Amino acid sequence: MSHPHPELGSPPDLPSHGLRIVPLGGLGEIGRNMTVFEHRGKLLVVDCGVLFPEEHQPGVDVILPDFTSIRHRLGDIVAIVLTHGHEDHIGGVPYLLRERKNIPLIGSQLTLAFIAAKLKEHNIKPVTHQVVEGDRRSFGPFDLEFLAVNHSIPDSLAVALRTQAGLVLHTGDFKMDQFPLDSRLTDLPGFARLGDEGVDLFLVDSTNAEVPGFTLSERELTPAIEKVFRTSPGRVIVSSFASHVHRIQQVLDAAHTHGRKVAFVGRSMVRNMQIASERGYLVVPDGLVVDLKKLEKLAANRVCLVCTGSQGEPMAALSRMANRDHMIRVGEGDTVLMASSLIPGNENAIYRVINNLTRWGANVVHKGNAKVHVSGHASAGELVYCYNIVRPSNVMPVHGEWRHLRANADLAIQTGVDPDRVVLADDGVVVDLVDGRASITGKVPAGYVFVDGASVGGVTEASLKDRRTLAEEGVITVVCLVDADSGALTEPPDFLARGFVHDDKTFEPVVTLITEALAQAARESIGDAHQLEQLISRTVSRWAQRSHRRTPLIIPVVIEA
Ligand SMILES: [Zn+2]
Repeated sequence: MSHPHPELGSPPDLPSHGLRIVPLGGLGEIGRNMTVFEHRGKLLVVDCGVLFPEEHQPGVDVILPDFTSIRHRLGDIVAIVLTHGHEDHIGGVPYLLRERKNIPLIGSQLTLAFIAAKLKEHNIKPVTHQVVEGDRRSFGPFDLEFLAVNHSIPDSLAVALRTQAGLVLHTGDFKMDQFPLDSRLTDLPGFARLGDEGVDLFLVDSTNAEVPGFTLSERELTPAIEKVFRTSPGRVIVSSFASHVHRIQQVLDAAHTHGRKVAFVGRSMVRNMQIASERGYLVVPDGLVVDLKKLEKLAANRVCLVCTGSQGEPMAALSRMANRDHMIRVGEGDTVLMASSLIPGNENAIYRVINNLTRWGANVVHKGNAKVHVSGHASAGELVYCYNIVRPSNVMPVHGEWRHLRANADLAIQTGVDPDRVVLADDGVVVDLVDGRASITGKVPAGYVFVDGASVGGVTEASLKDRRTLAEEGVITVVCLVDADSGALTEPPDFLARGFVHDDKTFEPVVTLITEALAQAARESIGDAHQLEQLISRTVSRWAQRSHRRTPLIIPVVIEA
């Protein structure tokens, strides 16, 4: 299989009959999925998602794909295809549309409803083209066909691209639940038909490629969810992704059966469930859902709350309940059902929430102690099935960390795909499909773009390093009054420390060092305030490292007197 060479440069010009595929996110990581297809001078974007920050990225709201390589060609983008409504597939759209508002968005009804609601918050009214499975539409040189796939959100689509360079099939995120709650099966006959036509390049979801066998059906969760509602003496509080309509449908059905009323808690949960029920994706029995105020008047064993926060997100409802920072007080007799996955990187936050809820007396039912979650992604068995049905001539695993991509590539090879035609690429690696053959030809920028409050791209990896340092090592501010002419200290420096353990005498040794350093600088005629600040910073930093084994953030302030 082909790997990206570490010293890849910019790609050569694309031959006029070729198709270029540039993943800007989602390859080598889970999240911020985005792929750019280029053909005959035009670009088609498939998905534009965000990645959620981990604990070592403090103060970051979300992480975007890097738009640098397409920024000068925004006018060439014919459309953005959104395969489904998950944040890691649509969350970046507002930021791309900020750069060009009228890029058409193509997607299914539910996907477009979710993105429209999100864009409304950004004051953007998008140009949209709603499609259903089976539709075929042309955008510029791309002839698109949409196929039904099932996943952990309704109305997901795979997309086939017919171009002069060949036929490409992109699965999006998918699984092959044979008994989905909405009876909408992954269109395997469609996959087979495309296979007969000849799929030149198959881009396949790798998320679960390491998991042997087949992903269980959503329906397999019914008994465990039922049990919670049957046996809980107090309230049932369910956390789930705000987009997991089918999981929440199961919860509503169980609540209804067991005579409980339901309230939705959390802005995204309320909004998404309204969107889903208005359009018939969520079936809500009459009178089942009430508002929170009404619910509070009912006996505990008649109550069910459905909230956000299944990943331990600090601001979400469940985390705030766990921290006693929410009007809902969780306690003895309550059962908390965390009906969701455990996304790698969130483990600490999730276990903190589980422990806190348990400390208040709640019984917490989660993936680790009950069958309350199934994945939304195809496991190895299903992937092999797909390769055998589609019989692609080239394969490019997408959506996953390196280990997932590699496992997926191995599956393709096991089914008989020529190893030389299995392309392992990560973000920014350019793959060209020319004369029926896919190969790596270059690399474009694909780094993290951090969104921090209102600023996009203002936060850099360097400033995050400062934040980590502040959190872990503390900060020392050193204020020095120096003589404007001689550069020497006019009085002893002032120290202000936070997060750095100290007492009255801690900084005494470093005073001598600073005095010496400034005297030395004066002899060498270094008098510029900025240079002196750097000198002080280096001196204090070296001292802290040597005598305390710490690397605090040093903020030197030189005032010329
Ligand atoms: Zn998804």
